[in-house]
This record gives sequence, structure tokens and C-alpha cells, in this order.
Amino acid sequence: MRIAMIGTGYVGLVSGACLADFGHEVTCVDKDQGKIDRLNAGEMPIWEPGLEALVKANVERGRLHFTTDLASGAEGAEAVFIAVGTPARRGDGHADLTFVFEAVRELAKSVKPGTVVVTKSTVPVGTGDRIAEVLAEEGVAGVAVASNPEFLREGAAIRDFKIPDRIVVGAEDEKAREVLREIYRPLFLNQAPILFTGRRTAELTKYAANAFLATKISFINEVANLCEAVDADVQDVARGIGLDNRIGAKFLHAGPGYGGSCFPKDTLALLQTAEEAGVEQRIVSTVVSVNDNRKAALADRVELAVGGSLAGKRIAVLGLAFKPNTDDMRDAPSIPLIDGLKDKGASVAAFDPVAMNQAEPLLPGIDFTRDAYAAADGADALVIVTEWDEFRALDLGRLARAMRGRALIDLRNVYEPAEAERVGLTYFGIGRGRLPH
Ligand code: NAD
Repeated sequence: MRIAMIGTGYVGLVSGACLADFGHEVTCVDKDQGKIDRLNAGEMPIWEPGLEALVKANVERGRLHFTTDLASGAEGAEAVFIAVGTPARRGDGHADLTFVFEAVRELAKSVKPGTVVVTKSTVPVGTGDRIAEVLAEEGVAGVAVASNPEFLREGAAIRDFKIPDRIVVGAEDEKAREVLREIYRPLFLNQAPILFTGRRTAELTKYAANAFLATKISFINEVANLCEAVDADVQDVARGIGLDNRIGAKFLHAGPGYGGSCFPKDTLALLQTAEEAGVEQRIVSTVVSVNDNRKAALADRVELAVGGSLAGKRIAVLGLAFKPNTDDMRDAPSIPLIDGLKDKGASVAAFDPVAMNQAEPLLPGIDFTRDAYAAADGADALVIVTEWDEFRALDLGRLARAMRGRALIDLRNVYEPAEAERVGLTYFGIGRGRLPH
């Protein structure tokens, strides 16, 4: 089947490459000429494990193409996916749909009857209805609009796309259902459940899923706070509750608070939808403020660990990306942490295995180092922010020798307190009993 993917970012590029790998003929369209030039030159604009090989293989087989020209990219396509960004609008947190409607109006100029337009971007309830209206306003007839929210996770995006927990399709007519069933047919072999529902329900399902996951994170983070006050260990509490099948072990890792390109904006957008509908969402509202407060207080944790003022102190930060295996810096907890450290007068040396290029414009005035040990050199405290694999087996003795101070602040609970103490470091984890003085 011929497919066009508008927006060639983390979601569009991975989805386009995977759909090509299923055997479809896919054209990925992006308005960013630089991105398309790099892709046409065989370079990846983002860092995602396995993506380069997948793109290369499908380009070589002639099934995956890249262009900035929407009209030619969408020509003859039975399905046109919209995978452009939907960031939070400044001020009110509403999902900014500028890119979506820009793409729809552009598409309207060339789209042919019989095409199915599918939103893969995360969009508020009613966006599909509005897209149908805009197409009609532009004189387009015979085009179905469906919702197919994407649930992939950066860092494991290809696996998530190819072996999804479920596929959600919201459609109002049989033609759209048929086309989407055909697109995802290869996944039926993996027995991936496909849920057909109404368009508005599919749109809301994505927000409800992310809000629920964000709730689990904020929940365990609050339990971690309690553990620090009553001398209990959140790692064991999480395991103790997570082994209950009704609860599940995932998303119960206490840490610095959730970040990334989805949870912060999607929780805010859900609250906006609820406000417009006149319905309270007190749980999600609390989740958002718990998380905001947590991120705002990260530098205070470091201050506590060094035992006083951070003025003139040097702090080593390991990990900048919002999570491992991605270069994505959007809403990363490292940003409020480092901003807070600088505000308190500290200097910062930071290392991340892949995200330093993305981080540089966002974090001016800090030193980027070649590895973890160089970051630790002369540091008064070392903070682990992102749990990259290479930070799980650091030579703590070597770090301790390089450092000037003793504090290891492990915001991901990668290490056991005893391991740090063995080499003379003072360990400050998250929710690992009473904090040392
Ligand atoms: P992104 O910023 O990485 O990519 C979006 C791309 O769209 C950019 O390359 C941009 O140049 C392009 N674009 C914008 N307007 C365009 C237009 N009119 N025509 C052509 N191209 C255009 O964003 P992303 O992370 O891939 O997210 C895309 C959507 O998917 C968002 O709604 C997001 O919430 C959702 N989503 C993201 C993830 C994730 O992990 N990143 C997971 C699930 C869902």
C-alpha cells in the first residue's frame, strides 16, 4: 500500500521506516529541508537504536523515500498519516495544533477522494472532527479522517512499533477501518490486539494512557518522599507492590520526576480538555503539580547533600537526555536541575553519551566533558540524572578519587548505598531511607 507520513521526527521517521519494513511503499515528508537532506544522504537526524539500519535497508529496497514536497509525497497514497509535533502552547498548556492544521491545509490542495487521513500525532478530543471540517472548508470531498495514536517509547521505538501492546484505531467509517486493518495486517502475525473505536475515544485513549503512567510515577515519587521521612526503602516498596499483577512493576521507579516530549505536555493538554468540558480532573492536576514541585526542588537535594551553600561548588552531572537511549532533551529533568544549581552559584560539569549536542543550546555556561570521570574531576558532588547503561557500572573508586567532595546523589537509584560507602562516598538516593546528614 502507498502511504505518506507528514512529519519525519521521532514518531514519523520510526513509523515510516517500520511501515516500509512491513512492505508498504512509504514517503516521509517534512518541511525541514535540512532533515530531509540528511536523510537523503543516509544520515539520521535523531538518535534511536536500530533506526539507521532499518532506514538504510528500506531505502535500498526502494520502499522508503524522503521529500519536502507534500503534494508529490502524498500522490497516490491510500493513507496519509499526520505525525507532526503537538507541543504545549505557551501560557495555557493547550496542545498547539498549528503544525497539524498547517499540514491539513497543505494536504487539502492535492489530496484525492478515497484517501484516508490519519492522525498519529497526539491530538485533543475533537481534532479529527475539526480536520474533517477544515478539509470540507477547503473543498475536499470523499476523504475519511481517522485517529491512530502512537504509543511507542523513544529508546525502544522500533520494537514498540513492531511489537505493540495494542493498536488503537478511531474511525467513523468502514473504509478507514479497512485501510488501517490492511496497514497493520503484518502485526496480526504477532497477535497485536487492534482496538477499533470511535475517533474521539481513540484521541482520548492516548491522553488517558499517558496520564495514567504519569500518575504511577508521581505516586511512587511521593511514596519515596515518605520513605525518606520514615526510614523505609522505596526500591523494596516498589517491588513489593509491583509484584502484584493488579499493580504491575512498570513505571514504579522513584526518580527526579517525569520529563520528555510527551508526559508533561499530554497531562497539561488533558487538563485543558477537561477544563473546556467543565469536568474536574483532580488526580491528573495533582500529578502535574507533584511533578513540577519535584523537578523544581532537585537542586535543593544537591544543596542538602553538600551540607550547605552551593556557591562556588562544582557539581558533576551524569546524563542529560530525559531518559537513556535517546538524544531527546525536551523537558528533561537535567534542565531544571542544572538551572537550579547555577542559580545557587554552583558551576556544572556534565556528560551524556549522546545528548550533548542537543543539550548545548539549552544549557549555556556549563562544561561538557568527554566522559563521566572527566566530569567528576574536582567535583564537590556527583549527580546521576539519566540511567544510561554506561553509568550502571562506573568505577566508583576512580570517581571518588577524582572528586573533591564526597556526595553521590543518585536520582535513579542505580547504585546500592553500601557500594558507594565502600569507596568513601556518601550516598543520597531517592527514597532509600533517611537521608544522611
Ligand atoms: P518531532 O518534533 O520529533 O517531529 C515532528 C516533525 O514534524 C518535525 O520534523 C517537523 O519539522 C515536522 N513538521 C511540522 N510541521 C510540518 C508540516 N506542516 N509539514 C511537514 N512536516 C512538518 O515530534 P515527535 O516527537 O515525532 O512527535 C510527533 C507527535 O507524536 C506528537 O504529537 C507527539 O506527542 C506524538 N508522540 C510522540 C512520541 C515520542 O516518543 N516522541 C510518542 C508517541 C506520540
